[in-house]
Amino acid sequence: MTAGSTLTPETEVSEADDIRDSQKTACCVVGGGPGGMMLALLLARQRVPVMLLEQHRDFDREFRGDTIHPSIMEILDQIGLAEPLHQLRHAKIYGPTLRLANTTFSPIDLRRLKTPFPYIFLIPQARFLEFLAAEASKFPDFKLVMGANVEQLMEEDGQVRGVRYLGSDGMHEVRAPLVVGADGRFSRVRHLVGFEPIKTSAPMDILWFRLPHIPGDLPEGEGRVLGGFRRGRMLAVFDRFDYWQVGYVFPKGHYQDLRTAGLESLRQSIVEVEPAFTEHVKSLTDWHQFSLLSVESSRCPRWFKPGLLLIGDAAHVMSPVGGVGINYAVQDAVVASNILAAPLREGRVQLSDLAKVQSEREWPTRVIQRMQGAVQNRILASVLNSQETPRIPWFVRAFFRIPFLRDIPARIIAFGVRRVRVEENAR
Ligand SMILES: Cc1cc2nc3c(=O)[nH]c(=O)nc-3n(C[C@H](O)[C@H](O)[C@H](O)COP(=O)(O)OP(=O)(O)OC[C@H]3O[C@@H](n4cnc5c(N)ncnc54)[C@H](O)[C@@H]3O)c2cc1C
Repeated sequence: MTAGSTLTPETEVSEADDIRDSQKTACCVVGGGPGGMMLALLLARQRVPVMLLEQHRDFDREFRGDTIHPSIMEILDQIGLAEPLHQLRHAKIYGPTLRLANTTFSPIDLRRLKTPFPYIFLIPQARFLEFLAAEASKFPDFKLVMGANVEQLMEEDGQVRGVRYLGSDGMHEVRAPLVVGADGRFSRVRHLVGFEPIKTSAPMDILWFRLPHIPGDLPEGEGRVLGGFRRGRMLAVFDRFDYWQVGYVFPKGHYQDLRTAGLESLRQSIVEVEPAFTEHVKSLTDWHQFSLLSVESSRCPRWFKPGLLLIGDAAHVMSPVGGVGINYAVQDAVVASNILAAPLREGRVQLSDLAKVQSEREWPTRVIQRMQGAVQNRILASVLNSQETPRIPWFVRAFFRIPFLRDIPARIIAFGVRRVRVEENAR
């Protein structure tokens, strides 16, 4: 270590820190989720040496959303990957169907949008990440290390210079002029630099679980996202080809009440919302089949410091409302690559470049989080706290009949509040 260098947390180099090797790269990306993977791919395509460190040994993980929105598909198309992605097993949906008080309501129809991809493309996230990793591996400047758990940041004179990660064989060091923390909602990198996100609590939590497909459920390849509401409970149901991925939404902080009421009570509540699941819920026999996801939303006031940038959920945890988290993480990656590829290649990344990434992405994040907050607090909170089955107010139905207005929500879901493109010279 050179003079003035430190490791965070307060760890000095010692005999115990038996570093197995030290590698160098131009950009070290921490976290192989949608944001980190897309950034690494885009940089490698532009001949920027990039090393991607992912703590897991594979891309299978607890449910995190399977949705590829039109904006991501347009981005993939700009780099020639939309067509190959369509070769993988997928389903398409044109808008969610809400089931309320014996009626259905499909407020959003993406087919009216001006895009070559007017649908949400559903693919298990693990398959999507494997696809991006395989594409990135075609570029000699890309290096992926799986099972690499980043534990420390290396800092010299207030500048981040690299990371240390724990692999199966011990500690390794990666030195880089830029470290990008794309390590998700519980970001270790964010914690190590001491950035405190401003948190907004959502009024709900979600239990995720699978239900089996039963023959006759759904025509092959059609795909469905359903939302059912009844007596203060909601179900979000995603078709995952071989099984249904279900999110059971309930008021925040009531998980222990569900446990106390018991599994039979939960099964009944699921069937109350979706009577078609009467047979399916018999497969739910153990609480281990459920994972609890505490829904929150947050945003870091600052996304960068010398030698370091945060993107995706590490910079701003998105609520699942509208399913825009993957979209935003990928858009952050595209903007970061547009701004940083040339300076990284030339070894002259300035603090102002990192600030530019935040300023281009922060306001779309603020706007969407405000919208998500309004939906959560004004609509979902009252639905979750009511014993009545909700009805769609007349003015909401009227809104979705006005041609000029009705596609605004669809456009936001499809593209976020600002459409992002891969720069021409990066295609
Ligand atoms: C319940 C729920 C449902 C959701 N549904 C949807 C949806 O339908 N559609 C949608 O668009 N979004 C959805 N989201 C949001 C979406 O999952 C995230 O916004 C998105 O995954 C963020 O991408 P990311 O790349 O920033 O982070 P992540 O996808 O979280 O990826 C971070 C990666 O970093 C790795 N990592 C973490 N720590 C380390 C470390 N120390 N060292 C190395 N690697 C590390 C992790 O293993 C992970 O692979 C949902 C979120 C929740 C909570």
